[in-house]
Amino acid sequence: MRILITAGPTREHLDPVRFLSNRSTGKMGFAIAQCAAARGHEVVLVAGPVALASPPGVRRVDVVSACDMLAAVEEHLPACEALVMCAAVADWRPRQASAVKLKKRAMAPVLELEANPDILATIRGRKENRIFVGFAAETGDPLPEGRRKLTEKGLDLLVANDVSRQDSGFAVDFNCVTLLPIEGPEQQLPLLPKLKVAERIVAWVEQALAARPQKETQK
Ligand code: C5P
Repeated sequence: MRILITAGPTREHLDPVRFLSNRSTGKMGFAIAQCAAARGHEVVLVAGPVALASPPGVRRVDVVSACDMLAAVEEHLPACEALVMCAAVADWRPRQASAVKLKKRAMAPVLELEANPDILATIRGRKENRIFVGFAAETGDPLPEGRRKLTEKGLDLLVANDVSRQDSGFAVDFNCVTLLPIEGPEQQLPLLPKLKVAERIVAWVEQALAARPQKETQK
């Protein structure tokens, strides 16, 4: 399959040296890309600013902001059968970005923000028979929000993780997730290395793609 994977945070610049961002390091998305490439799939990895080397055999597209990420996803989606939106896309950006460093004395103490586009919502109408996987990172029980995002964002699978745990989630090599498919039972996975979580997700996508033509002929 050809699979498009997004990873890492986005940065929303206020000026060339200041930005809004989040704690994502890209490890989970890069693990999915590494695993998919190792299983012989063609991978396009759209990466926000992260300090990670590209996994072997992966085509990497570096982006900075949510708007850049949306443009890259829109460009590469048509050639792909599956999309895994693992990136922690910033929800807001400064209303105004300066091309030069702002002087402290010229800055207001209140930052005006505007909403970033929701990438999944924007491309939802172009899903056709592609498989879409999203992530939900929550502090506390991620399942209620995860189930809401699964249907609200029109996904086939949502991977829910509790990022308030010290041993799992952001910046560590382990993750503790629950797979919430649109059809079939939820699967709570134990605490696993991100590469093992990645294997489960890639295997799920492979199966969903294999089941897809069958589903169509059954209709
Ligand atoms: O941020 P949120 O919890 O809503 O993210 C859930 C899913 O939506 C993730 O897969 C994320 O990559 C995606 N997302 C997006 N565009 C945004 C924010 C999040 O596609 N602006």
